[in-house]
Amino acid sequence: MPGFELIGNEERKEINQIFDNGGILFRHGFESLRNNCFKVRSFEKAFSKKFENRKSLAVTSGTAALRVALASLSIGKGDEVITQSFTFVATVEAIIESGASPVCTEIDKTLNMDIESLKQKISSKTKAIIVVHMLGVPSRIKEISKICNEKNIFLIEDTAWGCGGKLEDKLLGTWGDIGTFSFDFAKTITTGEGGMLIFKNKEFYEKACAWHDHGHENNPRVPRWEDTRSSSGFNFRMTELQGAIGVAQLKKLDLIIKKQRENKNLIWKQLKRLNGVEKREVPSGTYDTADALIFFVKDFDTAKRCREELLKIKVSTKILPEAYTWHFAETWIHMPELLESHDGDLNSAFPKSRNLLKKCVSIPIFYNMEKTMPEKIKLLLENVV
Ligand SMILES: *Cc1c(COP(=O)(O)O)cnc(C)c1O
Repeated sequence: MPGFELIGNEERKEINQIFDNGGILFRHGFESLRNNCFKVRSFEKAFSKKFENRKSLAVTSGTAALRVALASLSIGKGDEVITQSFTFVATVEAIIESGASPVCTEIDKTLNMDIESLKQKISSKTKAIIVVHMLGVPSRIKEISKICNEKNIFLIEDTAWGCGGKLEDKLLGTWGDIGTFSFDFAKTITTGEGGMLIFKNKEFYEKACAWHDHGHENNPRVPRWEDTRSSSGFNFRMTELQGAIGVAQLKKLDLIIKKQRENKNLIWKQLKRLNGVEKREVPSGTYDTADALIFFVKDFDTAKRCREELLKIKVSTKILPEAYTWHFAETWIHMPELLESHDGDLNSAFPKSRNLLKKCVSIPIFYNMEKTMPEKIKLLLENVV
């Protein structure tokens, strides 16, 4: 979780540089006033360097990143986009905003996309799959990317929680055509609000750049007010303030993940001694971001009781069980487009996912953790599970 735990002098220094160089808060132009200080550009450059030199585009949020990704692939009305039943509502919202129909798959014991369910849901209208690395654990991205190649379907990775995680030593976000990231205040690194896209293909990067900026092509031969355009678009531009924070936060990413993984292991070392606790499965070759520690207990009541116990030491749980309805498609009857693509009945659409999610407890992992915390958690839970 802890981008927000580590906001400090490094971020302040980056922000001060903006004000020491003319206070230009816009990512484009004003060259004569800014002394070559371009923070969004620097953030994108550093991000590319970290992610296999893929082209990077910063945007205003992780939700915006998903919307821009779909636009760059020219996905819209009449198309279907498949994602998974367990994700944040934003993934489905972005599909609906694009005009495409959202289709959700079941999840398996990794709590990510179920491959058999995916195979069943692919149709002639399927243009893209948005796979989500939920709470920092890699999805079965290797198999899914193979299916996408065979069927000529675009693969987008919603890496909102997977920034810095890997599968078989390859960074999450670099397996598909486009990887999207979120820097909201609860993500591994944060810019307050913010997002990023990384691209395998330069053509889609260029389309995304224009689309997120009203269609501006930033043609070097003309001033911006006479700029050329080939499509309309929208405004999802990141500000220089966000870019500056991002530059500082990205430098902390590896350290955050290392520490989170250590803390998660310390908690698991205690919890695995309890009967009645089964750990979430992960694909082989997993290097997760350790955003949360998720395990199965016997039923929903037990999961809720775990949360009540954990609240006593102000640890609480993250998403499961308490924010279940924001993250499980079965409950999204407020989205007519989602209902329509599931025969008007979400309640019977994901029985497998429901059975898994109802039994889950998710403990948030922080960068700063008291030494005694793992033991305290075990003592609280041993009488409940
Ligand atoms: C946080 C999140 C988003 C949205 O990101 P924002 O920056 O909050 O808009 C999208 N998908 C998933 C899986 C997320 O967790």
